[in-house]
Amino acid sequence: MISKSDFLVEPHISNRLNCTNCWAKNLCGGGCHHENLDLTGKVTTPPIHYCILTQKQLEATLYLYLRLTEEQREILLEKKNMKELVKNGNQN
Ligand code: SF4
Repeated sequence: MISKSDFLVEPHISNRLNCTNCWAKNLCGGGCHHENLDLTGKVTTPPIHYCILTQKQLEATLYLYLRLTEEQREILLEKKNMKELVKNGNQN
């Protein structure tokens, strides 16, 4: 029988073969344990469609972030009033 601590250690990102060489591993974390188990039969194996979607979402997010001005990044990261950013629009 698997113990609670085994369950928490085994699925760590460093133990997931599919994730070891993935550029997104530090942002993704290896997917949802339950979804992995439900769709692949293993907690440590993410479904390929999840990986494709996650990598595309992260790629798009990083691309958009890099297009922000310094002011927009400060507003985003400091969680200032987002309405002000939307109201003023992208000035560049
Ligand atoms: S995208 Fe897939 S392979 Fe990459 S870290 Fe996430 S679950 Fe692992």
